[in-house]
Amino acid sequence: MNQSEIKKLLTERGLAPSKQLGQNFLIQPVLAERIVTAGGITPDDTVVELGVGLGALTRPLAATAARVIGLEIDAGIIKYHREHQGLPANVELRHQDLLRADFAALAAEVGTRLKIMANLPYAVTNPLLFKLVEQRRAIRQAVLMIQKEVAQRLTARPGSKEYGVLTVLLGTCATVQRLLEVGPGNFYPRPKVDSVVIAINFHEQPAALTEVDFALLRRVVDSAFRQRRKTLLNSLSAGAGLGLDRNQTAAALAAAGIDPRFRAENLDTEDFLRLTKAVSEQLQKPA
Ligand code: SAM
Repeated sequence: MNQSEIKKLLTERGLAPSKQLGQNFLIQPVLAERIVTAGGITPDDTVVELGVGLGALTRPLAATAARVIGLEIDAGIIKYHREHQGLPANVELRHQDLLRADFAALAAEVGTRLKIMANLPYAVTNPLLFKLVEQRRAIRQAVLMIQKEVAQRLTARPGSKEYGVLTVLLGTCATVQRLLEVGPGNFYPRPKVDSVVIAINFHEQPAALTEVDFALLRRVVDSAFRQRRKTLLNSLSAGAGLGLDRNQTAAALAAAGIDPRFRAENLDTEDFLRLTKAVSEQLQKPA
């Protein structure tokens, strides 16, 4: 659909794009096709689309993939598609909040790790990314259109100000690749920011981490970045975060071969993995 078709459809139904739901609809069919191609979708794939909207991405996806399971939270949009029946037959629309989706259950239903695709509403990007990390074992790939600034954080290098919790967590279980830059003129209404399409490819066996290790890694990374200007010795022993006192924190840093004066942003993914192991050993030592 182009911009005037979208405007007409919304006006006829007395609707306006919802800011709260991040409804910036894609109005360039060619771009939607490029996203599907760049995502490497094949005719064998079942793809889970998050936030179907008026179907700009859904249609080219359905033309390539075997099946599309589309989640959408807006009851008005669901009603429109049900009445209008304009989506291809291999699209299964589900009225569901993407943040409540159970990706493990969806993967079991599909019979394989999931391919996910979305032009994401900005407000849910961060919680969704954390959810993907949590449910990483159920996911093969997520191709996501997100704010450029968030994409920069996900691909940031240690030492930069964009480097943070999500960079590290995703770095331990996936590789993140920038696919396309997309300007505001490709959407209606026009957003204030540039967007980037990224592909997150989850490793099959995430860095030999057990679930317990991963939960602890998350706590270590959170504690280290919570006060990112502090040295690691201070940030990791502050508050109740990890349950380690200053001496235990110093011992863990020494065992991991990390300078206690470093800050969170100085550590790469491997450093955080070693540090988590050392913290785990400290926590297991009798008091
Ligand atoms: N895929 C369409 C496109 O590219 O034009 C729509 C993209 S629009 C940026 C985001 C879509 O996600 C909207 O249709 C919005 O209603 C929907 N949405 C917002 N929050 C959601 C949520 N929590 N769960 C499911 N869908 C949501």
